[in-house]
Amino acid sequence: MFGHMMQLPLLISSLIVHAERHHGDQLVVSRRVEGDIHRISYRELAWNTHRHMELYYGVSGSGRVLHTVNPRLHPDQIVYIADHAEDQVLFFDMTFWPLIQAVAGRTKTVRHWVAMTDRAHMPAAEQAAKVPGLLCYEELLEQASDRYAWPVFDENTASSLCYTSGTTGNPKGVLYSHRSTVLHTMVAALPDCFGCSAADAILPVVPMFHVNSWGIVYMAPMTGAKLVLPGLGLDGKSLYELFESEGVTISAGVPTVWQGLLAHVEAHGLKFSTMRKSAIGGSACPPAMIRKFRDDYGVRVLHAWGMTEMSPIGTAAAFKAQHHALDDEGQLAVMSTQGRAVYGVDMKIVGQDDASGAELPWDGQASGDLLVRGPWIIDTYFKGEGGNPLVQDADGNGWFPTGDVAKITPEGYMVITDHSKDVIKSGGEWIGSIDLENIAMAHPAVAMAACIAAHHPKWDERPLLVVVKKPGMDVTREELLAFYEGKIAKWWTPDDVVFVDAIPLGATGKMQKNKLREQFKAHCLPRS
Ligand code: ADP
Repeated sequence: MFGHMMQLPLLISSLIVHAERHHGDQLVVSRRVEGDIHRISYRELAWNTHRHMELYYGVSGSGRVLHTVNPRLHPDQIVYIADHAEDQVLFFDMTFWPLIQAVAGRTKTVRHWVAMTDRAHMPAAEQAAKVPGLLCYEELLEQASDRYAWPVFDENTASSLCYTSGTTGNPKGVLYSHRSTVLHTMVAALPDCFGCSAADAILPVVPMFHVNSWGIVYMAPMTGAKLVLPGLGLDGKSLYELFESEGVTISAGVPTVWQGLLAHVEAHGLKFSTMRKSAIGGSACPPAMIRKFRDDYGVRVLHAWGMTEMSPIGTAAAFKAQHHALDDEGQLAVMSTQGRAVYGVDMKIVGQDDASGAELPWDGQASGDLLVRGPWIIDTYFKGEGGNPLVQDADGNGWFPTGDVAKITPEGYMVITDHSKDVIKSGGEWIGSIDLENIAMAHPAVAMAACIAAHHPKWDERPLLVVVKKPGMDVTREELLAFYEGKIAKWWTPDDVVFVDAIPLGATGKMQKNKLREQFKAHCLPRS
């Protein structure tokens, strides 16, 4: 017997329709690439679309698929994924005009290239001729009617497409649906996740192409929060000014972006007057950063974990009631985990390379491959690339292997100890590179630290710490190694430290340890 409730499909367009009807005066503020600040209300937005966010709704809401592309990828990769996805219309900011010229003649299926600007900012005729099918976004909108009825269709229809970074092999496409997106958004807004309400102003520092901006562009209209889009200004000064001028209460981004912001507020003796929560994920947030935000600025860091294949949110490190009684250190330990599963996501750890997939205990000790399942987690990659990614359990349920290695505490808090491709194996035993990095990051002279495996004749691999010093600060190899004493099992201590000017970062701000491993593959450890 079915329940007697209305069968309304969960469609992305319902988010903006809700915002228009119930939060019509609330604002979407964007710092535009043209340099000015643009303001529009949800009510105006519902028909007078304005660029990126409008594409999120216009494209998906009309039943088409929005494929967001990371502009920092190599042009060859952009051509590959545009062809693979069979993109037909490509929208771009004028900042990327040189890139567009480099790829325009090479893609197979793109018919129109739409410059997201007005007539005045379009390239001159001679330049424009180099990109056949070039159109002007604002001109197209002027020609279109103000009235539009959102079509109603099956909630399982594809809504958007993101490609994974593809550190091994070609990037693979993750195809989201309206249903998965709306469900993910509802859960992401819950109190123990972003905790976003109509009284908040939320600023995603994550780019719009990085896994649906972690759901924030959907969450703001759903909850009626003010949405503040930072444009190109992701340096500490520009971000801080926008936080203050727009009264931002919640923000979200990868750890590296917050370093610039913290360095700026520290150097100028500033405080945040409205910001209360900063969601940090994408790579492990060093506990030293969580502590600084809390103790020096009164900002609660919400450490969260997820991935492109998970829409992205899987876990968030919010407290349970008993944690309020802990002292500062005890609370910091909880906040530093990757967090507990949100409703909709189930997770388990299994023995590494254990074909039987037997679940390991949640004792905070055993670590294994992390598997997940849930309604906004991938089933197969776009076009079946790479075959069936899921692992079946004894009951026939499919689980997605994340490629992360983790342990889970008895309270259900998950801790990523490593990514399977970054693991350091010393004499057959695993050493967690993230722990080693977190300790180094707590040293006052360290700006960034990566721990990688270096070849060792006896132990196969030993940890090598690669460090970028803070400007004007100094620390020696010996001082850093001594800093590990008492904080970790002695045999985990790195064998060596090298200082570099910069650690290579990927397009979404994550450290590229594969590049470092390549760079230091001939590194001679002192004791070997
Ligand atoms: P890409 O694979 O394109 O870099 P994702 O954003 O999907 O993009 O990356 C997902 C991976 O990032 C996770 O599998 C995990 O390894 C890492 N990650 C995400 N959040 C965290 C976190 N809070 N702590 C540690 N690692 C994280």
